[in-house]
Amino acid sequence: MISSMGHIMKKPKELKVKPIKNGTVIDHITANKSLNVLNILGLPSEKIKVTVAMNMQSSHMGSKDIVKIENRELESSEVDQIALIAPKATINIVRDYEIVGKGKVHLLNEVKGLLDCPNPNCITNALEPVVNRFYVIEKEPVILRCHYCERIMEEEEIESQF
Ligand SMILES: [Zn+2]
Repeated sequence: MISSMGHIMKKPKELKVKPIKNGTVIDHITANKSLNVLNILGLPSEKIKVTVAMNMQSSHMGSKDIVKIENRELESSEVDQIALIAPKATINIVRDYEIVGKGKVHLLNEVKGLLDCPNPNCITNALEPVVNRFYVIEKEPVILRCHYCERIMEEEEIESQF
């Protein structure tokens, strides 16, 4: 066995994330929120390759998370949910190593059918078939108000649902 000091001194190889062939890259996720994003997407799941990078440097945001998902594109309802916890996120659709679509998540003024109202007495939590509905009061951080009971819902309560 030959031990070489030179080997020890060698500069460590940088661990680079390989580009994906087909799938979705979600960039500019609010730092440390990538696990909430995975929950929204029902990931991890068998056979779907996912790369998560947390607290990466970002010139715009200070730090951010990035999620790369192979062979999966997002539903619009998933994008709407991501907007609630990562309002600056960008969605890049990759096909054959090329970005073929790029968009920002967009939080509408009203959120329907995505969240449960935390007020147990709210009509949306009764047996009535009423779809939950919230008004967006603030976008960053997100603050919502229930259309039915006017209960205010802040960031932590929103995140706890994903
Ligand atoms: Zn309510």
